[in-house]
Amino acid sequence: MTEKSFADNFDANYAEIREKINLSAEKSGRTAEDVILLAATKTVSADKINYAIEKGISYIGENRVQELLSKDDDINKSAHRHFIGHLQTNKVKDIVPRVEMIESVDSLRLATAIGKEAVKCGKTMDILLEINIGGEESKSGFSANEIENALEEITKIEGICVKGIMSIPPVCVNREKQREYFTQLHKIFVDISRKKLDNSNIIYLSMGMSQDYDLAIECGANIVRIGTSLFGARNYF
Ligand SMILES: *Cc1c(COP(=O)(O)O)cnc(C)c1O
Repeated sequence: MTEKSFADNFDANYAEIREKINLSAEKSGRTAEDVILLAATKTVSADKINYAIEKGISYIGENRVQELLSKDDDINKSAHRHFIGHLQTNKVKDIVPRVEMIESVDSLRLATAIGKEAVKCGKTMDILLEINIGGEESKSGFSANEIENALEEITKIEGICVKGIMSIPPVCVNREKQREYFTQLHKIFVDISRKKLDNSNIIYLSMGMSQDYDLAIECGANIVRIGTSLFGARNYF
């Protein structure tokens, strides 16, 4: 058996994902243009990321600070960059100047640090608030109950603009349970998007990964973050 090249695999995966995004968007009364496909690029080399960008990927997301710093200069500047992982306040200064959005803001303290750094850089940092919808110990993020208060506090911070919410729901075997989480998140998104607050423009609902992005889109996601299904299984060294 001959091994298929990265490019062949990527091309096939990308075509399949786009098709699935089309179908799911239609099911939710939208089109594929309404959904941002963000390539989650952890462990993927700059060369491969650049190939993906050449093929049409226009949003990329890293979730580790060190990895982002080591690859960023070699990655095609045309792609929109998001940070999607847990961020410590002492690393904020490395990330704010390099990305367009930080999707994983999980505390008031972190938001405050981001605002401060953004002001220093003379930019407004777009952020999403991360919601821990399953209330899992292992995950960070605001609980569904905390989110309204958090939003009110965070939108007082200079230098940031809250653009929506992001979540990684618990892994469920049961598709119906998963749909429940996504539906709950969509409801929170709709509720908070009606609020008129300074420093906010709630337009993004980032949820859905390789295993469940079709369902997430059916439930209203407009950013899906996909790694494995696009690039293949990750190799950790
Ligand atoms: C890795 C990662 C993804 C993508 O996960 P896959 O299951 O590989 O698609 C999405 N979001 C975040 C925050 C990630 O770290």
